Amino acid sequence: MNVWRRLSGPRRTLALAGAGVLVAGGLVTIPVTAAQAATQCDIAYTTNDWQGGFTANITIKNLGDPVNGWTLGWTFPNSSQRVQQGWSATYTQSGNQVTARSLSYNGTLANGASTNIGFNGAWSGSNPKPTSFTLNGVVCNGGTGNPTTPPPTTAPPTTAPPTTAPPTTAPPTTAPPTTTPPGTKVDNPYAGVRGYVNPEWKAKADAEPGGSRVSNNPTAVWLDRIAAINGTPNSSSNGAFGVREHLDEALRQGAGYIQFVIYNLPGRDCSALASNGELGPNDLPRYKAEYIDPIAAIQSDSKYRNLRIINVIEIDSLPNLVTNTSGQAGGTVMCDTVKANGAYVNGVGYALAKLGAIGNVYNYIDAGHHGWLGWDSNFGPTADILKTAAVASGSTVNNVHGFITNTANYSALQEPYFKITDTVNGQTVRQSKWVDWNFYVDELSFAQAFRTKLISVGFNSNIGMLIDTSRNGWGGANRPTGPGATTSVDTYVNGGRIDRRAHAGNWCNQAGAGLGERPRANPATGIDAYVWVKPPGESDGSSKEIPNNEGKGFDRMCDPTYGGNARNGNSPTGALPDAPISGAWFSAQFQELMRNAYPAL
Ligand code: BGC
Repeated sequence: MNVWRRLSGPRRTLALAGAGVLVAGGLVTIPVTAAQAATQCDIAYTTNDWQGGFTANITIKNLGDPVNGWTLGWTFPNSSQRVQQGWSATYTQSGNQVTARSLSYNGTLANGASTNIGFNGAWSGSNPKPTSFTLNGVVCNGGTGNPTTPPPTTAPPTTAPPTTAPPTTAPPTTAPPTTTPPGTKVDNPYAGVRGYVNPEWKAKADAEPGGSRVSNNPTAVWLDRIAAINGTPNSSSNGAFGVREHLDEALRQGAGYIQFVIYNLPGRDCSALASNGELGPNDLPRYKAEYIDPIAAIQSDSKYRNLRIINVIEIDSLPNLVTNTSGQAGGTVMCDTVKANGAYVNGVGYALAKLGAIGNVYNYIDAGHHGWLGWDSNFGPTADILKTAAVASGSTVNNVHGFITNTANYSALQEPYFKITDTVNGQTVRQSKWVDWNFYVDELSFAQAFRTKLISVGFNSNIGMLIDTSRNGWGGANRPTGPGATTSVDTYVNGGRIDRRAHAGNWCNQAGAGLGERPRANPATGIDAYVWVKPPGESDGSSKEIPNNEGKGFDRMCDPTYGGNARNGNSPTGALPDAPISGAWFSAQFQELMRNAYPAL
């Protein structure tokens, strides 16, 4: 995990970059009955449009005999409309005709079953919705003729459009009595209450000389495998406490909030190796049934209704689909696979829907960090895919309370000695090697700007951001005390920056890093809290290959002798030596983080 990726060289203008005004997307529900064939289908087609581009979400519901493999067809009304990049199906377009063919994992649809697919597209002039669809050659469109005004009576109640919770997510009225009624969420779950201190992390911190100076801080509980739901006394990262034990202990502590990290997507950590997980790329059904459902069952226990349960959703996953797929520096086959099969988008959507339905549960989705997404080519497209995931699998944006940046990363909260608008000898600091044309120099400015962008693509206007400040302190003896020399943009930036990494793409066990701001609520405009999500002292990955049965691979970005690759400008990795596998306690790192803490301990 903790990857950083961007396109190198001149920023590419992707079709979705720099999206302009968002036009409210329309919804077409076309319930259909085929004349003779036993194929009957209902298609819900929604889009979010902006000037020149759009994202389409399609729910296919099979109302007829079971199908084993399907092909959905439609005709775009306007010849400029194009499918550019799709997921959860194989798309082909010829002229105005489009077909979307099922993939191995979603081809089988029992009677009453539905599946979601989608794509990003382009248009000019106008972007009207198709008026009819076929499934396996049989017309799905009963000839309603006017897609924007489907007669409400023809929509069967079970064919909820994506904006409505699917049957698997208990709507408020059917919630069992043990579930806290939804609708009671507070605006900022961090405000005015004390956070849960994970006793398993605290014990490790307390065992370190000087560790008791920080061991009372709340850190997140990482549910990094299915077994962690019930406790993993034998894993190198977590301990014997499962979700229930943590929640019970939170009650005992009188804590007001507790933080979990939902981190087990199929094909996890698709662009790196250090935090590969237990589920293969086609294991979405297991993710839902064996991972999300049991977590939701425990979190919805009414015993915990007065706790604010915060879930950080799937670190690094969605940004990887934007920056680390084929054709990009650092693109991987695994990222291509989980993009094509919809595992990330649908997994995140499912987690949001299921957990967000619980009245005292707050979902914050991971949103990378400035050194990954701060270029236009990545910024807008990531906001778009976050939105796509937020409305996938029956979720709605209402299941998203906010976003978190810098999770387990090292980007400085604020660079005090230079800002993005500075120039030296007529050159902007954006031209410096370190900034490399990024539009942001630190996390706070990025998180605030990204929040605005997320609202513009359709997230609620009261979303809040979190910033993981567990390891971005950059204090200690080498911290600059003023701006760099104004000889050139590079001397100015390099002399003044507090982030001392060799490259902003370095993410593994960074030498010189320190503990950052202590967790606190409402630290800045738009920011719900500074949090410690990565428990300081837990490794990002091993410096050498270490055989293990936890699925953890060896990523050379954790090897201090590695000279880097295109993703980090072929720079040294800056990783500390002798690190254990990701999640395992790394005493030397904990000591270094305390030494370089800023504010100092
Ligand atoms: C690891 C997890 C661990 C988490 C928190 C991740 O990098 O893969 O196993 O729980 O970090 O330390």
